[in-house]
Amino acid sequence: MKAIVKTERKPGNVEILEVEEPKIKEDDDVIVEIKSCAVCGSDLHAYEYPPSYEFMKVPVILGHEYSGIVKEVGSKVTDFKPGDRVMGESNQYCGKCSNCKTGKTNICLNSKMTGLMIDGSLAEYIKTKERYLHKIPEKLSFEEAAMAQPCAVSDHAVVDNTKIKPGDTVVVFGPGIVGLVAAQIVRVLGAKDVVIVGTDVDMELRIPIAQSLGFKTINVQQSDLSSELLNLTGRQKADVVIECSGANKALQDAATIVRKGGAITLVGIYNKPVEFPFTNLVRNEVVIRTSYTCKWDNYENVLMMLENKSVDLKPLYKIYPFKEAIKAFEDGLNKKVLKPVIRI
Ligand SMILES: [Zn+2]
Ligand SMILES: [Zn+2]
Repeated sequence: MKAIVKTERKPGNVEILEVEEPKIKEDDDVIVEIKSCAVCGSDLHAYEYPPSYEFMKVPVILGHEYSGIVKEVGSKVTDFKPGDRVMGESNQYCGKCSNCKTGKTNICLNSKMTGLMIDGSLAEYIKTKERYLHKIPEKLSFEEAAMAQPCAVSDHAVVDNTKIKPGDTVVVFGPGIVGLVAAQIVRVLGAKDVVIVGTDVDMELRIPIAQSLGFKTINVQQSDLSSELLNLTGRQKADVVIECSGANKALQDAATIVRKGGAITLVGIYNKPVEFPFTNLVRNEVVIRTSYTCKWDNYENVLMMLENKSVDLKPLYKIYPFKEAIKAFEDGLNKKVLKPVIRI
């Protein structure tokens, strides 16, 4: 089968190769014929191979945001049969550790990341387990179902780890897919104003997309955050801040813009040590929570929200044919497209 493989521990070296098809080995294995796979920021990092990615297995088939059709099932699989339309979870949790046993499969002690530590879904077929699959609604396209994975990350951050009250003013930092979907879920939950904050690099693509989804936006490099928030919402401070950018500066700004007694949820991944002004946050009794990946019910929630259109992905993605997969990576890295989705 064809697959997109990271072949060397060097920047670049991502190739379309002919590799062996996966086969059923254990009785809960499922083989999925992939229809669509979205390219994640971590796939782009794997392409670039920065210092923090030595944990990767190389060579490895990349990709973990996928949807497709069940091709074959192991003898003990009961919930899926060949022909079912499905999407798959990205983290293979063990199901046996103390976190898994208490339902926190997103922070499994033995978690393995698909497409980095085990072979991924940028290929014609993937072997996975019954417990990592979800059936997808009939009317949902394979492209959007593949993106249910990053949407589930937003769902976990907002629904499980943030308290939104009707009438809240909410600021979301980082207009990538996780931020833009988090903002939409916040709106569904009844916030009065949702403002998305970006920087100069977001002005060409991401901020216009945020605006097309009906959000007010601030470019924090061009205007003063508090006064612009006041202009847009009549409020100088936010009740809730959701930080999805992973930038040190956004942490400082989050601490400035949150009201006394408000809350900050951290979702972004910080690639270096960061500074956070804790003294003010302590004095203002600001609630700080973190949120990482997602769990079974977050996938089910977002599949429903994608089906009933309370979350709209249309302005976010661009479809590439399999033979243009390397171009999809390059366009993603050059910020020409917010979310490349490869049709397989
Ligand atoms: Zn991802
Ligand atoms: Zn576990």
